[in-house]
Amino acid sequence: MTSPKHARLLILGSGPAGYTAAVYAARANLKPVLITGIAQGGQLMTTTDVDNWPADADGIQGPELMMRFQKHAERFATEIIFDHIQSVDLEAKPILLTGDNGMYTCDALIIATGASAKWLGIPSEEKFKNFGLSACATCDGALFKGRDLAVVGGGDTAMEEATFLTRFSPKVTLIHRREEFRASKIMLDRARRNPRIELVTNAVVDEILGALPRPGVTGVRLRDTRDNSTREMAVGGVFVAIGHEPNSKLFTGLLDMDAAGYIKTLPGSTATKIPGVFACGDVADHVYRQAVTAAGTGCMAAIDAERFLAH
Ligand code: FAD
Ligand code: NAP
Repeated sequence: MTSPKHARLLILGSGPAGYTAAVYAARANLKPVLITGIAQGGQLMTTTDVDNWPADADGIQGPELMMRFQKHAERFATEIIFDHIQSVDLEAKPILLTGDNGMYTCDALIIATGASAKWLGIPSEEKFKNFGLSACATCDGALFKGRDLAVVGGGDTAMEEATFLTRFSPKVTLIHRREEFRASKIMLDRARRNPRIELVTNAVVDEILGALPRPGVTGVRLRDTRDNSTREMAVGGVFVAIGHEPNSKLFTGLLDMDAAGYIKTLPGSTATKIPGVFACGDVADHVYRQAVTAAGTGCMAAIDAERFLAH
């Protein structure tokens, strides 16, 4: 058996938080090792226009922005390893991590594992994943050309996905469980103005309808949340856009978390309750969850880790 690969500083995650931490740590000569995880580039790889990345006045495509992050991290000699960590021992000295492809040890660890799409949790969902049910319009939208579609959710992601899907679909019905929307006004207004989008409020998807392997999804059964009445709606595809949950399961029982599983850090810092273990980006932020805030806390984590290692 080969011995674990050792790094002074190991960074978990290749989203805006992880790559920014890498840039700062590498410039501080910490020779960081960054483990990408399966979702290399993180959440922005699943989106198109990013219009609020500062200093990119014309906007930028999510995957292009993440390629730039990666290039920047590589320029300052970050070692980037494609692996996904399955278990950790945070009490071990050095900290021990086991991935699909190898084992790693480190003196300090930055957790930047971000968040993943949530699903509705209804039984028919499992059945229709990849058969007309998706959580990523950017990835799968083009496969649904010409079909009427449903998007579930009332946040920015749902607005963005619905708007994007009108490139392929003659009619997109956005289904939201309440009257009020969580989405920002600008995104909601854009969806409202789009003649191909219909907003259906006070409704939840009770069941996804269809047959396997073909034709896949053919409709949804909607339940009105006010009177529990149900009705069926024909659609050729369903996109679930109901938010994300933090990728923190690896650390359950090891680090303090809030009720939703976001890792708690000390106020004004990225330090967790274990010395030498830092958390940044969406995995530790249930409030802002933006690329720029993830990058900002990635910078903080690198500076916090540098100070820890210096002592
Ligand atoms: P993420 O981007 O989630 O990256 C997490 C990383 O951790 C991934 O690389 C993953 O592979 C890795 N990882 C996870 N588990 C493990 C493990 N066990 N081992 C190793 N690695 C692991 N924000 C904006 O500011 N503007 C936008 O326009 C915008 N658009 C968005 C559109 C969509 C569709 C979505 C879903 C989000 C959008 N956001 C936007 C939010 C933004 O993407 C996130 O705030 C940001 O990506 C968070 O960065 P992060 O680095 O914390 O985590
Ligand atoms: P979100 O803001 O948490 O919104 C999730 C939506 O899904 C809410 O409307 C919620 O309803 C609904 N929902 C949750 N669980 C549900 C369920 N089981 N059944 C039905 N509906 C359910 O998540 P998000 O839209 O993914 O956005 C996450 C973050 O990324 C936000 O900070 C957002 O600003 C950011 N983002 C930004 C952009 C951009 O700036 N261009 C684009 C996308 C995302 P309730 O409202 O009733 O809770």
